[in-house]
Amino acid sequence: MDRNLECSRAWVEIDLEPLAHNVADIRSKLSKDCEIIAVVKANAYGHGVLQVAQRLAHEGIDFFAVACLSEAVELREVLPDAEILILGYTPQKYAKYLSENNLIQSVFDGGQAKALSGSGYNLRIHVAIDTGMRRYGFEYTKISEIENVFKYENLRVEGMATHFASADSIEQSDIEFSKVQISRFNSAVMTLKNMGYCVGKLHTQSSYAIYNHPDIVCDYARPGIMLYGVQSLHGKTKLETNLKPLLSVKAVISQVRWINEGESVSYGRLYTATKPIKLASVAIGYADGIPRQMTGNGGMCIVNGCKVPIIGRICMDTLMIDATDIKDIKSGDIATLIGKDGDEVIYCEEVAEASGTITNDILCRLGIRLPRVYV
Ligand SMILES: *Cc1c(COP(=O)(O)O)cnc(C)c1O
Repeated sequence: MDRNLECSRAWVEIDLEPLAHNVADIRSKLSKDCEIIAVVKANAYGHGVLQVAQRLAHEGIDFFAVACLSEAVELREVLPDAEILILGYTPQKYAKYLSENNLIQSVFDGGQAKALSGSGYNLRIHVAIDTGMRRYGFEYTKISEIENVFKYENLRVEGMATHFASADSIEQSDIEFSKVQISRFNSAVMTLKNMGYCVGKLHTQSSYAIYNHPDIVCDYARPGIMLYGVQSLHGKTKLETNLKPLLSVKAVISQVRWINEGESVSYGRLYTATKPIKLASVAIGYADGIPRQMTGNGGMCIVNGCKVPIIGRICMDTLMIDATDIKDIKSGDIATLIGKDGDEVIYCEEVAEASGTITNDILCRLGIRLPRVYV
């Protein structure tokens, strides 16, 4: 589409340059010989999977993880030689696509292993072990169930993995729980090794586990959110993060006018002006992924280098700001919802905080109506 048309209303700006910096920061925290599996599920956390994956490949990354088969097939088209791991479930009737696209499928229970084996295709497998997350995976105690996966002739086990439930926390009890999880994983792996099975490559750490549990030694780590230069929420990690965000969210000002003291703004009349204010409408809303619950909880917006609050309920396609302090604001000006403008900046972590969620959630729900513009 014509670039000018793309930016007529609201858009996401992405600078791929900091990816190299973030990869370097992550690599500097990994144990020697530990490589990165770049997690690019959910359209690379909203950043555009094809652009991000190609840039990461350029930075020497050759192993990627996605959530599902359709994401894997899409990625395969641009990366013919990379390793691609599907973290989530793939039904048996799609096994053909796993084989045709040389994908690696996570397997997390005996029924699924049997079904995939029954497809008749030769498939590459990583075994997911549940060590306490209770999301998916073979229970770490059920060794004979895991052992069965190794016995299917057409399933080739190339790796084993687990996932931490509270690696993002540096509370003592959470650190202890992660340690319990890693020891459960290690003992399951050890048991299988001692039985003579080749367990393949091991991987356990998502972004936070890399920074909070740097003592873990594995073949791969699986960073997602921190590749994109943000934390899930601003906070302390055991090893300091030095990351740069890639993404900004921008929209145009659609209308500016003064309203009187006592007038309310938007649905539900949540906000009432206590003095005359200059009100500006911004052409972006919750259908674009701007969280509706952000109003009144610290939701902000920058226009012409001046940061002001979002007021009244956020609508589907529009939100309003108190623009009284923005001297020369006019329709057509550009508002920044995430990112920098002049000396002001709104971090994705702040938007997440104001919305009662994490940046991972904010980023991957940025709407398809927002064109991604690469700068
Ligand atoms: C999403 C996901 C990751 C990446 O997590 P981040 O917290 O974004 O780094 C890693 N491993 C698994 C199994 C995941 O589902």
